[in-house]
Parts: sequence; C-alpha cells; structure tokens
Amino acid sequence: RSKAQGKNTYHWFDHELIQETIRKYQLEQELMSALEQEQFYLLYQPKVDVKKGVISGVEALVRWKHPDLGVIPPIDFISIAEESQQIIALGAWVMQQSCYQGKRWLDAGQEVAISVNVSAVQLAHDDVYEMIKRALTEAALPGYLLQVEITESAIMENSNHIIDTFSQLRALGVKVAIDDFGVAYSSLNYLRRLPIDILKIDKSFVDDCVTNQKDRMIVRTVVQLGHNLGMSVTAEGVEDEAQLALLKTEGCDEYQGYLFSKPVSAPEISELLFSKR
Ligand code: C2E
Ligand code: MG
Ligand code: MG
Ligand code: MG
Repeated sequence: RSKAQGKNTYHWFDHELIQETIRKYQLEQELMSALEQEQFYLLYQPKVDVKKGVISGVEALVRWKHPDLGVIPPIDFISIAEESQQIIALGAWVMQQSCYQGKRWLDAGQEVAISVNVSAVQLAHDDVYEMIKRALTEAALPGYLLQVEITESAIMENSNHIIDTFSQLRALGVKVAIDDFGVAYSSLNYLRRLPIDILKIDKSFVDDCVTNQKDRMIVRTVVQLGHNLGMSVTAEGVEDEAQLALLKTEGCDEYQGYLFSKPVSAPEISELLFSKR
C-alpha cells in the first residue's frame, strides 16, 4: 500500500515503525516493575577447559519471564534497559545473584568461576566498582571466582575511568574478559593500556573456522595475540566437534557453546559439575 492509493490508506512501513515504538515503550515501562516482581532469572552456560574437557567456569545470562509475552531473551530488552538507565539496577541484581550462586557452589565444594556481562552503560557509571565490590562482600564470594565480561565498544568511551575500574577490580582478584572480541573496534591500543585477563573470540569467527581459511587464521592469530600478551583465550559459540578439534590444535584455552551445553539453570549446572568434572 502507498499514499497514492488514497487518503484512507497508510504506509505499512510507518505502521510497523509505530508498532515497534509502542512495543519498546511498553517494555520500557514494564521493565520498571519487572525487577520488583522478580520476573528476571539467570541461566548459566558452562565454560570448558579445552585440554581437560572439564567445566572451568560458567557465564550468567539473564532472562525475563514476562507475564504475558513469555520468556524474553536479552537481545530484546538489554538495549532498552540501557537507553533508560534501568540496566544499572538490573545489572546490579545480576551481579548480586551471580555472586550468591557462586558462593553456593563454593560451599558445596565446587570452585566455579562466574562470569557476568557488564554493559557499557554500567561501566561508564561512577559506582561500577563499588557495586561489584558490594556484591562480592555481601555474598562472601572471593574475588578470584568472579570475571566481568565487557564488549570492545564499551571500552572506547571514558578511558581513564575504565583503566581505574579494571585496576581496582584486579586488586580484588576479579578477572576482566573482552567479550565478542574482533567484531567491533578491536584496537591494539586498549589491549596495551588496559589490564585484561581474557579474550573471548566472537562466535562469528568460530562458525566457519573449519572450512574458511581466513577465519581459521583469525582464530590462530587471536590465540597467539592473547597468549603473547599473557591473556587466556576463550572461543564462543562452539557447536561441533570439528571446531573443537581445531581450537585444540590452535591452542585455545577455553570454549563455550551448544556442543557442550546451552545455558541452563543452576541445578542443572550442579548436576553437570558432579557428572562431568
Ligand atoms: P554474550 O555475552 O556474547 O553471550 C553469548 C550468547 O551466545 C548467549 O546468548 C548464549 O546463549 C549464546 N550462545 C552460546 N553458545 C552458543 C552456540 O553454540 N550457538 C549459538 N547460536 N549461540 C550460543 P544470550 O543468552 O541470548 O545473550 C545474548 C547477549 O545478551 C549476551 O552475549 C550479552 O551480550 C547479553 N547479555 C546476557 N545477559 C546479560 C546480562 O546479565 N547483562 C548484560 N549487560 N548483558 C547480558
Ligand atoms: Mg558474555
Ligand atoms: Mg560474546
Ligand atoms: Mg554476544
């Protein structure tokens, strides 16, 4: 349909855009009460030691159980929460819950390193270090069992604040990982300047690394770059044995992906820990 068809028709594109805007606005409003109403929960995806084949840690991944819409994945609400600053409260909740869970596993006799995604908006916030320290203290979780995952795009802004934050975190034993490495503004400059412990090779390089020679060379180069800078390297989104074999050959340290496990609930992680570790 187009305007040429007459005054009673509307442009379908505008209509979709309006629908989308309304949907976003609704979600933004509903996010406000979602925390209080305990509609968020965490799943955990194992990280696996490539050489040993055992779980070396888990990544906490948030989900929103919306009363009408069902389970909403983070891709549909994290950016809304960032735009509205609600990510500050949500992110603090995720951090606190993750630390509590890490402590439960520790008390059960399993030292599981927990990775938590921290968004650019949180990182830019003055209190990010205090928030993380508080979460650790409140849960009585030792800092060495916590890792924070930050995307490259978050690092480009506000550099002195970020150097301070990473250094303070490191002093607590907390490790810093660069998430989705290679897809945004990969810069050797920040790798040189910032205290970073882990590089996570983005899934998009892993997907075709077995068949595409360029992707394989990128994987090889990132592993060597990380190792040469004293960092550990994790591959994301590993879905088959051939990819894993290649990553092993290339000397990658850890992997995550559906090959080993999708993100699962904390009790399911406990089961995996006792059976596969
Ligand atoms: P991410 O941190 O890069 O997490 C990896 C994403 O890839 C997760 O999606 C995970 O479920 C998915 N994944 C893992 N292995 C595979 C695989 O083998 N195949 C495929 N197709 N996918 C795989 P998820 O849970 O939907 O999260 C998406 C993104 O949302 C995350 O990407 C992260 O950037 C963000 N996110 C999730 N939880 C949080 C959170 O608590 N705070 C913030 N700020 N961001 C979060
Ligand atoms: Mg992540
Ligand atoms: Mg990632
Ligand atoms: Mg990602």
